[in-house]
Amino acid sequence: MINKKIVLKFPPSLVDQPIICKLVKDFDLEFNILKAYVTPDEEGLLVIELKGKDKNYNEGIEYLKSKGIIIQTLKQRIMKNDEKCVHCGVCISVCPTKALLMDIDTMKVEFIEDDCIACEHCILACPVGAMEATF
Ligand code: SF4
Ligand code: SF4
Repeated sequence: MINKKIVLKFPPSLVDQPIICKLVKDFDLEFNILKAYVTPDEEGLLVIELKGKDKNYNEGIEYLKSKGIIIQTLKQRIMKNDEKCVHCGVCISVCPTKALLMDIDTMKVEFIEDDCIACEHCILACPVGAMEATF
């Protein structure tokens, strides 16, 4: 039995298709949607817990990949290095889940780790390398 939390990145063409339902019907998997987002450029991001027999799980994952869905295991943790951050706000605009927010009282960028789905958009966007991934 496999039980994992994974992040699925859907291209815009697949966002409104019932792909996850097929995991239940065709691969006998159980899923629990933990978070779901659509980014400004219409990419879909879904954090799910997926559970089932090893063979079914692996076949289900291969099915998702064959559809063009990018799969990432939710085992990495994103951290904000406050020593490096200059609070420029660039990361706020690329974060799909609003895990990075400007505190208007302090004018400092806050990181809400519970809302982060480890998509790494902020790591690519940050000009000073203040957002880091750890495993
Ligand atoms: S982009 Fe980098 S430096 Fe700018 S607010 Fe975000 S973490 Fe801080
Ligand atoms: S990795 Fe960065 S951009 Fe992605 S959800 Fe987490 S804080 Fe937001």
